[in-house]
Amino acid sequence: MHEMSLCEGILQVLEDQAEAQQFKRVKTVWLEIGALAGVEPSAMLFSFDVVCRGTLADGCKLEIVDQPAIAWCMACGDNVEINQRYDACPRCGGYQLQVTHGDQMRIKELEVE
Ligand SMILES: [Zn+2]
Repeated sequence: MHEMSLCEGILQVLEDQAEAQQFKRVKTVWLEIGALAGVEPSAMLFSFDVVCRGTLADGCKLEIVDQPAIAWCMACGDNVEINQRYDACPRCGGYQLQVTHGDQMRIKELEVE
């Protein structure tokens, strides 16, 4: 389950931020997860809870914000929304798509004290 190591990565970011910005506790983390990021939200919630125990983010709430996957279609010359990697363009049916959004995970916002 790679979500566990992803959560450890997030916790590392939180600890670095706590030092840089002088806060002691993290209450809520808003996490954007792209539709193509390959991250399972339920596994993320479970892992985050476990990883944060006994840290500055103990009891912290994880709010997951789903990000749609957006790809650039060469044929249409426009951005289109797709559901999966290697999907055809919903507009022209072509396969010359370059994913531009939705293949990553990032911390959007933190509530701290
Ligand atoms: Zn197209």
